[in-house]
Amino acid sequence: SVSLGPHEDPGDRDVETTLRPRKLSEFVGQARVREQLELVLHGALRRGDQPDHVLFSGPPGLGKTSLSMIIAQELGSAIRVTSGPALEKPGDLAAMLSNLTEGDVLFIDEIHRIARPAEEMLYLAMEDFRVDIVVGKGPGATSIPLELAPFTLVGATTRSGALTGPLRDRFGFTAHMEFYTPDELDQVVRRSAGILGVDLRDDGAAEIAARSRGTPRIANRLLRRVRDYAEVRAEGAVTREVARAALQVYDVDEMGLDRLDRAVLRALIKSFHGGPVGISTLAVAVGEEPSTVEEVCEPYLVRAGFLARTPRGRVATAAAWYHLGMTPPANTPG
Ligand code: ADP
Repeated sequence: SVSLGPHEDPGDRDVETTLRPRKLSEFVGQARVREQLELVLHGALRRGDQPDHVLFSGPPGLGKTSLSMIIAQELGSAIRVTSGPALEKPGDLAAMLSNLTEGDVLFIDEIHRIARPAEEMLYLAMEDFRVDIVVGKGPGATSIPLELAPFTLVGATTRSGALTGPLRDRFGFTAHMEFYTPDELDQVVRRSAGILGVDLRDDGAAEIAARSRGTPRIANRLLRRVRDYAEVRAEGAVTREVARAALQVYDVDEMGLDRLDRAVLRALIKSFHGGPVGISTLAVAVGEEPSTVEEVCEPYLVRAGFLARTPRGRVATAAAWYHLGMTPPANTPG
């Protein structure tokens, strides 16, 4: 269920399992989401009800999958994991749903990519814990209702805007995950260093936290790259100096931007004079999928103040020009 975008490497998956927070109390940050979720879950538990369906939206690596697993853990339930792209035919979903046992959590990652017929089946399943299985074709086709065990659906999406209204309306609780503050990322890397046995010093942790694009997954990845460097080129301890030297090798700049982030800004500024330009045109210019630029790069560039969305397209801010060592034209937005 884990997609391997350009910002990920396959080795991440094993380590991510090791570093995943297991309990709500181990989950750093997102205080508001955590509090709301705790109420939703414990309210339902008290009444003996099945908790409402939950939707998490936000950029990759912010903890949507981790929180879903924590939900199951808090409920003492099993979790079944699938993804929108895997649910191409309604039969795929029907098989998944009919295998659920009472109280299970069904996690659907990238739920905005679910095929329409499966999505329609999901409406009834979410609302009435029931599906209609169509048997046969043409005029002889009949639909057989199938009762499902009550379950809680947890959906995750990097593009909540791409969800249809009827699907979105069926979630009783929707949480938007925010980028993490450097302080929160500092806690994330310290916890991970403890688990991995890395000798991480205070200033080293702060440096990694500051360059992690507000994203725990990236913080953990940078920690591992810096650890390699510390072991091979230094004495093993991760200090600020070691972190800086290592991150330079991996093309992560002082703002945490990686090569693709900078390529997007450079294209925007050099090929399109700072914009405005449409996301697809920009994606072609850097040789990436529009969805990657839009869902992976752009949210952080906007949040960091380098890129602005306007009705006519994406625009580089003055900060972006300065970041690339150039002087912005007079009419550039701040
Ligand atoms: P998403 O599903 O949003 O892409 P994940 O839940 O897979 O993100 O998180 C990626 C990794 O980042 C996890 O394996 C975990 O190591 C780390 N992580 C994410 N959120 C947190 C958090 N709040 N506290 C600690 N670690 C986190």
